[in-house]
Amino acid sequence: MTGTQIFTDIDYDRQGKQVGWLYVPHSVTRSAYGNIAVPIAVLNNGSGATVLFMAGVHGDEYEGQIALSRLVRDMDPSRVQGRVIILPAVNLPAALAGTRVSPLDGGNLNRAFPGDPDGSPTQKIAHYIDQVLFPISNFCHDFHSGGGSLDYLPFVSMRRTEDTDLNERTMRALLACGAEQAVVWTDGPARGFANWAAARRGVICLGGEFGGGGGVSRQGIALVERAMEGLLHHAGVVETELHPHPGTRIWHVGDRSFYVLAPEAGLFEPFTELGETIGAGDLCGQVHFVDNPVRAPEPVVFRAAGTVVAKRRPGRVERGDCVAHLAQEPG
Ligand SMILES: [Zn+2]
Repeated sequence: MTGTQIFTDIDYDRQGKQVGWLYVPHSVTRSAYGNIAVPIAVLNNGSGATVLFMAGVHGDEYEGQIALSRLVRDMDPSRVQGRVIILPAVNLPAALAGTRVSPLDGGNLNRAFPGDPDGSPTQKIAHYIDQVLFPISNFCHDFHSGGGSLDYLPFVSMRRTEDTDLNERTMRALLACGAEQAVVWTDGPARGFANWAAARRGVICLGGEFGGGGGVSRQGIALVERAMEGLLHHAGVVETELHPHPGTRIWHVGDRSFYVLAPEAGLFEPFTELGETIGAGDLCGQVHFVDNPVRAPEPVVFRAAGTVVAKRRPGRVERGDCVAHLAQEPG
């Protein structure tokens, strides 16, 4: 028994295509015996690997939500050998509000793992994924973007774990996605993240950033769709005519020195563009104080060398906001 309070009519072992909901009990004034109905689809045909696709872990990251909703409508179970589980808007309250965190509990689903069966709605959803879905999955791809606060150069990603065999198998899955660029997060296990929880269960877990700024990137949607097809093919779940990218460029993102933080509250003027190569000590931008225009702007510098893969979108900053982050090619 998993102890989850979430219930569903979906039978994960039934053959064919099912589209339904995970019901998260949520008793409020408007609805005494109410539930949050999180959409889910399961396609099952014969035996084979199980691939879990998730989007909307953060509600303001849209490329994966669009691509996975389309997959739910279009995918024919006869194409599948094995099982595909699709959650296009997994933190549904956040997805409907277009916010990173849930408006119900302030919960960030990608910091909530392993979750709590008796906790807030976000904690209950994390717990269900960890206790019910990860144990029946061989592969997971969790699609993100920069959301409202960051713009990203689109890439597929993985997190390096302490399990070298799992790392190698995850790298093979990542290369199968056929992305031009990929990022390996090397800053150790990130407690609370979905990929951390998946790795603990031996699931080969991919992620990635497919756009940002609170918008919808067409290039990002195309990369999500290419990555989905590539992973399904790699898992042996679908046969597909693949045209893998001739050489995915692999970057890594390491410790805190890869991230640039605003030193003071103000108006941030960036000096770099996404994809630009910079050196340690180069200017990232400067913070202006428009309430005191005679005060000189405060310079903000990069502490490491690399390529700019993320930039803050909104102009106003508070002290401690991330205004950019880097990735480096190994070696
Ligand atoms: Zn995200």
